[in-house]
Amino acid sequence: GSDKALLIDTGAVADSTQMPLAKKVLELLPDKDKAKIPLLVVHTHGHLDHRAGDSQFASFPSVKVVPADLEAVRAFFAFDNWPDGIAQVELGGRTIDVIPTPGHHPAHVAFYDRRTGILFSGDFLMPARLTMEDSAAYHASAVRVVNFVQTRPLTHILGGHIELDTAGHAYGMGSHYHPNEHRLELSKEDLLALPAALKGFNGFYARYPSFILSNPRHNLAALAISAVALLIFIVWAVRRLLRRHRRSTP
Ligand SMILES: [Zn+2]
Ligand SMILES: [Zn+2]
Repeated sequence: GSDKALLIDTGAVADSTQMPLAKKVLELLPDKDKAKIPLLVVHTHGHLDHRAGDSQFASFPSVKVVPADLEAVRAFFAFDNWPDGIAQVELGGRTIDVIPTPGHHPAHVAFYDRRTGILFSGDFLMPARLTMEDSAAYHASAVRVVNFVQTRPLTHILGGHIELDTAGHAYGMGSHYHPNEHRLELSKEDLLALPAALKGFNGFYARYPSFILSNPRHNLAALAISAVALLIFIVWAVRRLLRRHRRSTP
């Protein structure tokens, strides 16, 4: 905007010698009245890979960093009926809408830039594993965003990660090698498919062309139950073998 710049998420790197994020962003800011315009730093949500760079901005008086916890998000954007209602950030001739999207994280929000029609969707919607902490809240968020874009132009949806290749297969967890990466931007169709996908979700894992639904807690629980069942079976089989062995040796 003409009065203020907005930075959404500060990434996974805190060390400014590894990644001089604050230095670079401040260099890019335009001047106004012989000084850099103020910068507002906000987050899609509080996971560390979206806010580790916050500390780099702490020493700059012209930068305001909004903490990523639910209390701070509600207070700063003046949500009085979270997760209902849409908030606005005014940057000077440019308005950004802030849409509550809890589900992946309790304080997740998406940002909509009215000037470009871009929705910054964080980890709520991206070509990656959509992991849920609260699936009911996630579904309600998807319905909320679909309703929001019904009356507004939507050019692109830009999420927080790419974890799929062009064929829609996921790379290994934490993999740094991503050959044939899926493009970052998703379309309105991908968003429109999300509520039904979440509603029909089996609670564990489901693949769609541009995203994967995954509940890591359920998958972990299923894995633990399988491991315990396997252990019980092994103990039973060994005891049975021993008993047979004892019977056959007088
Ligand atoms: Zn996240
Ligand atoms: Zn993330």
